[in-house]
Amino acid sequence: ATPIGLLVGTGRGAQLGILIRGPQALEDTRKLDTIVLDKTGTVTTGVMTHLGTAAVDGVDPAQALALAGAVEHHSEHPIAQAIAKAAAAQGELAQVTGFDSDPGGGVLGFIEGRKVVVGRASWLAAQGTELDQQAMDMLAAAEAEGATAILVSVDGAFQAVISVADKIKDSSAAAISELQQRGLRVVLLTGDNKSVASKVAAQVGIKPEDVFAGVFPADKAKAITSLQEAGRVVAMVGDGVNDAPALAQADLGIAMGSGTDVAIEAADITLMGNDLHQVTQAIDLSAKTLSTIK
Ligand code: ADP
Ligand code: MG
Repeated sequence: ATPIGLLVGTGRGAQLGILIRGPQALEDTRKLDTIVLDKTGTVTTGVMTHLGTAAVDGVDPAQALALAGAVEHHSEHPIAQAIAKAAAAQGELAQVTGFDSDPGGGVLGFIEGRKVVVGRASWLAAQGTELDQQAMDMLAAAEAEGATAILVSVDGAFQAVISVADKIKDSSAAAISELQQRGLRVVLLTGDNKSVASKVAAQVGIKPEDVFAGVFPADKAKAITSLQEAGRVVAMVGDGVNDAPALAQADLGIAMGSGTDVAIEAADITLMGNDLHQVTQAIDLSAKTLSTIK
């Protein structure tokens, strides 16, 4: 039988915009010692903007952006939305056939018979694009600027690097500090590059050794497992399709209300306010509810 107090706790959570799947989740919240945060859409707004496009000699950057944007138009990823929007601002997007995507990797599609691949280096390589020294140098230059750098290839030939970036939510730094004041270890886990991840971590007070960057979706769940094997009791907070396995693996999965359905379904708790302060509220609510029961 469920103690009535736990049910009251879940009701109080709902009033705060914290949707708790079952009374057990509230009980598990009390045992946490580690909070793992996804970056994009969790610590940051997840609304990306296009900063610029750099193309190889002989390729028009606007044309590379147009092709990439037409393909990205078929993806829900925040990066995709920024690229599609910037491309649409230049002119009508081309028709795409055979769209495919790898969450945490990128997208591909065919435009007038040409195969356009957009995403991280490993995704382009997996699709048969040869990335030469020039490509790697252009990627490194964009990342050194603190941007998330997205590569574009056409029929296997590298063409351009598109830089995008988003902003840290106004509330993130204070919320992370609240969690740390409660003795919790806060970890940043992201598929994005090390340079962006370190910059964000520094701005919100996460220690450099607690930044796990460049992590593939399947490895996000493994990162949770390794923390658990080291004896940590872990909450994962995320919003993306790529976060779902990690949300399910964590002792407690917490999804942003603005997140994808897949993330929300995998989570034990959903934060309707999309705010990390609500993680502290859930922890405090759990402590209070359980002390009332005893
Ligand atoms: P995060 O952990 O920050 O939410 P993701 O796992 O969603 O990041 O993505 C990791 C990386 O995969 C991105 O930084 C990007 O390089 C690449 N990627 C994923 N989806 C796309 C896309 N639709 N277009 C371009 N690149 C993508
Ligand atoms: Mg995310």
